[in-house]
Amino acid sequence: MGIPVFVFAGLLVHCVFLASIFDIYFTSPLVHGMTPQQTPLPPPGKRLVLFVADGLRADSLYELDSNGTSRAPFLRSILENTGSWGISHTRVPTESRPGHVALIAGFYEDVSAVAKGWKENPVEFDSIFNESKYTWSWGSPDILPMFAKGASGDHVYTFCYTAESEDFGAQDAAKLDTWVFDHVKSFFNSSRSNQTLYSALNEEKVVLFLHLLGIDTNGHAHRPNSREYKENIRKVDEGVKEIASMLENFYGNDGKTAFILTSDHGMTDWGSHGAGHPSETLTPLIAWGAGVNYPQRVASQFFEDNFLKEWKLENLKRLDVNQGTLPLEYLNNSAHFKAESMFTNAVQILEQFKVKMTQKKETTLSFLFTPFKPLSDSEQINLLKKTRLYIQQEKYDEAVSLCKTLINLALEGLSYYHTYDRLFLGLSIAMGFVGWTAYVILVIIKTHTNLTKAAQSHDKESTILLYGFAFVGLIIAFFLLIQTCPWTYYVYCLLPVPVWYAVVKELHVIQDLAAYLLSLPVGQSMGFLLICALGIEILVFSFFYRSTLTIGLLVFAGWPVITQLWVQAKTTALIWILLCMLLGIFPLMPVVGREPNIPLVIATGLLTLLISCSSLSSLCKSKNKYMNNEDLKVQFYQMLSIALSTYVVSSTHDSLQNKQGLPVFNQIISWTTLVSSSVLPLLSPTFLFQRLFSILLSLMSTYLLLSTGYEALFPLVLSGLMFVWINMEQEALQQYGLSLKPKLAVFNFSYATDIMQFRQLHLDDVRRSFFFVFFIVTAFFGTGNIASVNSFDPASVYCFLTVFSPFMMGGLLVLKVVIPFVLVSCAFEAVQVTTQLSSKSLFLIVLVISDIMALHFFFLVKDYGSWLDIGASISHYVLVMSLTIFMMLMNGLAQLLTTKKLELSRKTKHHST
Ligand SMILES: [Zn+2]
Ligand SMILES: [Zn+2]
Repeated sequence: MGIPVFVFAGLLVHCVFLASIFDIYFTSPLVHGMTPQQTPLPPPGKRLVLFVADGLRADSLYELDSNGTSRAPFLRSILENTGSWGISHTRVPTESRPGHVALIAGFYEDVSAVAKGWKENPVEFDSIFNESKYTWSWGSPDILPMFAKGASGDHVYTFCYTAESEDFGAQDAAKLDTWVFDHVKSFFNSSRSNQTLYSALNEEKVVLFLHLLGIDTNGHAHRPNSREYKENIRKVDEGVKEIASMLENFYGNDGKTAFILTSDHGMTDWGSHGAGHPSETLTPLIAWGAGVNYPQRVASQFFEDNFLKEWKLENLKRLDVNQGTLPLEYLNNSAHFKAESMFTNAVQILEQFKVKMTQKKETTLSFLFTPFKPLSDSEQINLLKKTRLYIQQEKYDEAVSLCKTLINLALEGLSYYHTYDRLFLGLSIAMGFVGWTAYVILVIIKTHTNLTKAAQSHDKESTILLYGFAFVGLIIAFFLLIQTCPWTYYVYCLLPVPVWYAVVKELHVIQDLAAYLLSLPVGQSMGFLLICALGIEILVFSFFYRSTLTIGLLVFAGWPVITQLWVQAKTTALIWILLCMLLGIFPLMPVVGREPNIPLVIATGLLTLLISCSSLSSLCKSKNKYMNNEDLKVQFYQMLSIALSTYVVSSTHDSLQNKQGLPVFNQIISWTTLVSSSVLPLLSPTFLFQRLFSILLSLMSTYLLLSTGYEALFPLVLSGLMFVWINMEQEALQQYGLSLKPKLAVFNFSYATDIMQFRQLHLDDVRRSFFFVFFIVTAFFGTGNIASVNSFDPASVYCFLTVFSPFMMGGLLVLKVVIPFVLVSCAFEAVQVTTQLSSKSLFLIVLVISDIMALHFFFLVKDYGSWLDIGASISHYVLVMSLTIFMMLMNGLAQLLTTKKLELSRKTKHHST
């Protein structure tokens, strides 16, 4: 396979792997095509009023103020005298959209929306609004339209403030709620002079939905413990009271109105929501009016939390519900009515189950189809018959409990059929992945080692092989065809065929490899595999726990001790151990940007100056004959720029603290430093350490400007370790008797590429590549979780600009992230050339490492939990997938930075050959 073909195949395979997660994990669980079910008994109410106080925590509503009074006196009196109450448990993600979907449409919104964007309705669904005769709703433009859009016909009406005018709540978000209450009142007033509206309002099956965003907005702005948040609850309580009495008047106290007050999600103490903390998942639920139970006095009730005592509600029955299921205990009706309602509920869900099963059955060959055993056709009929019989015999409790069993089974079955293909698709993708990785390993062995004998060509055998695989492919395609699978399934299932064909074609390489492995002592080869597996696990874990990097670095610190290197070069090994431990501190520190520490940044600047002074003096002392004044001048400029950066950081933050803004002079210096830092290293000599040091100085001056705390030290320690690494690799090479040990001090990058004769790969090169990947990951997670953008503090770009400009800020932050990478990549470039490795073979090893990691993350992709968890699991996968491409780019940049030298044209330079 030629290089372009290889690269193309690699890209194709990775694109398919990447896209596959959306077909495997993020598909819609919704079912369409059921017939609506109705209870045979008449409903107790004609209309429902639904108040959703967005972002209202259960405890904020129920608890008493310090003086023992409730901040929601009307709602408190409702739950004490007329209605039922409890805690409604929401699911993660605790966001407004899925919260409202669960309340109004009765299902947990599916994560397939992840792949389709959030704004519009990503999937079609039915809702209580759509099933109503008329629905009128008031509130935020972010929530209301999504239920109106899904509704068929013209019977769901929305009244929203415009998104821009949401600003009127800027001073006091409670105005968003008074807007809603006022509009509801004037709407009902206007109906008195509008006959059509009046009669519409008096129809049966009417829903009024009041979405109250004020509490959520105040919670984000001022946190739930603030006066604003609590004051807003008081306002909502008053509003609810007024609306309730206005409606009772309007309908002449007909007792046909049911009221529900709840919230879509809670809020953490620090004013956020989305995840699964109890403060986010516990929301209040108060219901009263038509068909709703009166308060039930109880002597004692048991709950694991202490809320009842805190809220002084021990003697009023608390009825907890899960968002989305029918809570029978809230109903004030005959046991017969409850049993019938439950039966209808069960039949509805069973209907969904049946449709889902039929769909799956139709697209699966009958002999391959494994039905959901616990709910077979006969079992369904049996359960339904029994329930009917119980209802006829007036054994309502038994009927209800049977219905509950049926519902649970049907829900289980729904999820069974929803994830039916997941195993088979996942295996297919894993097959492809493993095949591809195996193929890359074979390519490495074949082209970069001397393990294999000359390839023998057996034309006949390879043709048979080709036909064999083509046949297998045809059979797979045929099976997919008769099951009418979507076209993407063909890609996932057929991809492993050519990949494995390529693997099996290299059978002789596998044989040679097996022979070689068997010739090694068993302990040695097993130990090698074990270390490889362990190393990759450490890398995978570091994506979740940064502290894993510290463990890895400690193991690295032990490397010279367990090998011969310690005896060979004591001082270098000692420095290596020290720096490994020092670098290991960084992943243990909190994520950057939490606590600005400008003195530390300034100290780092001074330390850098000190180091460069000592290096300069040692250079002068050694009287390097290759040095000339020009080169000294370049280093002097770089030191000057470090000094300036240090000054700018300190003066900018001083001036910002005194509210004097960013001085123009500082801004000019910052931008000049940024530009010059990319050019200055190219003017410095190309001797290994001088060039690397020059790159460090230049990047350091920019990095200082972008630092706000301890992270300023990170590139310095990292580069220290990189310098030692280059030396250590030389020593390690000597240990294997591979090298003539070129003198590192006079090693020149610019001659490296043409003289170099690449050697064959050795087992130790696997370790080298692993070190590289590990250092890259350390550069990534060393000072924060770069995978989540909000771990960034805008304060870090204040030396460059203070006006908000997402594009510029983003660019600068990316630069800050990239600088440690460049340092690692340049060091690795040095390791490559001094150990005579070809970068191609090395990248193949890196490809293998990152593919094995990607396979890990493939199985760790989450389709449940908060958006943050889901997003992180996807971004890990994408990150690892793009790791190789990213490292190739970095390698190119490193080659450019290390080998290119700009000559100032006005001087005639004498080449020091
Ligand atoms: Zn919300
Ligand atoms: Zn919110």
